[in-house]
Amino acid sequence: MKLDFALFAMGAALSLTTAAFAAGGSTGHAFYGDPPDDRHAWCIHDQNRPQPKVVAPLPVSELEQKAKAPADAIVLFGGTEACLSKWCSDKNPNEPTKWIVRNGNMECVPKSGYVRTKEEFGDCQLHVEWAAPTPPEGESQGRGNSGIFLLGVEIQVLDNYQNKTYADGYACSMYGVNPPLANALRPPGEFQYIDITFHKPVYKDDKCVQPGWVTVYCNGILVQDRTQIEGPTGHRARAKVGPLPDKGPLKLQDHGNPVRFRNIWYRPLPPAAAKGGVRGPLSAKATAAKRKEIAASIRKDAACKPEGSAEQMLRFAESLVYDKDDATFQKVEQMAGQYAAALKQLPADKAGSKKDEVMQVDSAFKYLAKWSFVPENFGPKVEVTNFIKAQGWDKKPKKK
Ligand code: MG
Repeated sequence: MKLDFALFAMGAALSLTTAAFAAGGSTGHAFYGDPPDDRHAWCIHDQNRPQPKVVAPLPVSELEQKAKAPADAIVLFGGTEACLSKWCSDKNPNEPTKWIVRNGNMECVPKSGYVRTKEEFGDCQLHVEWAAPTPPEGESQGRGNSGIFLLGVEIQVLDNYQNKTYADGYACSMYGVNPPLANALRPPGEFQYIDITFHKPVYKDDKCVQPGWVTVYCNGILVQDRTQIEGPTGHRARAKVGPLPDKGPLKLQDHGNPVRFRNIWYRPLPPAAAKGGVRGPLSAKATAAKRKEIAASIRKDAACKPEGSAEQMLRFAESLVYDKDDATFQKVEQMAGQYAAALKQLPADKAGSKKDEVMQVDSAFKYLAKWSFVPENFGPKVEVTNFIKAQGWDKKPKKK
């Protein structure tokens, strides 16, 4: 009896395994993807990883406005045949793509290979709309599969509407790395509105000095929340940690399903501070250099103002906030002294017309003293404040 049961159990296990292996990459199964390690609790394509919860997408009426390409966006596919000239075969970049435009959509022709843009870019905001074929065919990874690839990182395209698969292979997963926070898909045949921000990791001397992140919204629902980029993603294999190229094309995957795409545009994002840009905290050295640059630009502007005017004095004084340059400080001190002296000479009946300007100068001097750009007892500051008191401008009007 015991033996019979054992044999039965073994047979069942074998047939299960055979079925699972027969399904291959389309479903994922035990002993399939790279195993857990010190930093990853799950296997790649792990069936034991929790499924993303189903969350209703936002209505199209709410998404359409946001989906329009902003004025500074670069349109990669706008719905016409002519747009195909911006794309080429990924395998043979000198050849046009065999994907077709039908009813304003760019459609994958199965077995024609990936497509890529001729345009190359790095950090970006990317908008893509895609629709899975209808009626749906196949299951798990076999249904409406494609992919959005940025510098080798795949944001999965898959028809997961009432179609389960391994969690890290769901639509909007960072494939094989991180499942989406939710399954917010519409049914096949309807377009999904995908918005991505992509920041590649920054490496210096083979060391990562700033990680890269991907954020994804699917139909208005946040599904990747600054998910860290490990490296190029892969099938069954853990992403290989390392630098990504500076720039690259956008690639769309041919996974054998006629997935349709439309309204594809991107906006390049300014470089990160760690990459010589100003996005994110700057190093002390970079900050000092940037402050000098800002101060120089303000001084250049100040030099164009009417010579000796209060406007010119304030503009030079403003530059001290960025860079306390001795020569500029002396210039401001001299101009401020002359300004205070002129105030004293002002006939009583002319004072009123100068009120706004004097109050502005007073406020600027107080700011500069508060932040130690001029000493607290800065002579012109004291004199301007005294002038204001003498005019009675420091008194608040009485409430009725
Ligand atoms: Mg794919």
